[in-house]
Amino acid sequence: MLEAAFRKMKLDWRYLTIEVLPENLEDALAGMKAMGLQGLNLTIPHKIEVMKYLDAVADDASLIGAVNTVRRDGDRLIGENTDGKGFLESLRIDGRMNPAGKEFLILGAGGAARALCTELALAGARSIRIVNRTVSRAEALASHISRNTAAEVSALPWTPALSLPSSVNVLVNATSIGLFPDTNKPDLNYDSIRQDMLVCDVIPNPPETEFLKEASRRGARTLDGLGMLVYQGAIGFKMWTGLEAPVDEMKEALIKEFQE
Ligand code: NDP
Repeated sequence: MLEAAFRKMKLDWRYLTIEVLPENLEDALAGMKAMGLQGLNLTIPHKIEVMKYLDAVADDASLIGAVNTVRRDGDRLIGENTDGKGFLESLRIDGRMNPAGKEFLILGAGGAARALCTELALAGARSIRIVNRTVSRAEALASHISRNTAAEVSALPWTPALSLPSSVNVLVNATSIGLFPDTNKPDLNYDSIRQDMLVCDVIPNPPETEFLKEASRRGARTLDGLGMLVYQGAIGFKMWTGLEAPVDEMKEALIKEFQE
């Protein structure tokens, strides 16, 4: 996806996948500085540990408690989190929805849910209900976001065939249920989905999950996780290069990759 963006923008840049052992993370960051690399993405298990080796962490990433992107500001390394921002961008552009004043119900309380609940709260969402299999994780996340933002955030237990409150505007699956090759869907009363709800999935592959298919059958608009992934990459691209990302080419490259 990023190499396709570099090609399109005629940048002679590379995006490499490099495995780093946890005990070598500090050296890897020092190496990044020494070699003049412009940025990087991080994934499990480095997203939290990396924060102690950076010169600064953006406010939202610090609230999320995890960094997935590092950018340079001169000689300084700055930590960012683009997961929730990617979701917001996809919500605004593809979903044509401004989160301000809206009611959200989020399934899941892991890393993805944490990032997107934080960004939704910062973007002025009125209320966020978090439903998670392990209710204690939902409660911890809800109280953390409530303490630090103006949003009304609560945790709900995941009862069998959960029915959605009628006031919900946006439903999001932020669990890992449905990620290829899993074809399951969250346990919900799908008949409680209304036609005026926007139903979103964070699962990028397959883009059309069983969850989204059920929502479409009820007449709701849907937003897939492919858009979120493309936009988080596009936000990183802009942080590193200073240029607007060629989003269409990035999306096309990603779809091709998932089809192989
Ligand atoms: P985590 O492991 O941190 O969290 C997983 C979440 O899914 C937890 O809330 C967990 O509940 C829940 N869960 C998993 N299996 C089940 C199940 N069988 N029934 C009910 N709940 C379940 O993962 P992440 O938050 O990092 O990632 C979640 C998904 O988000 C992944 O599929 C990932 O691909 C996707 N993602 C997509 C991005 C995008 O750009 N589109 C970006 C980042 C992530 P519990 O707490 O009870 O274990």
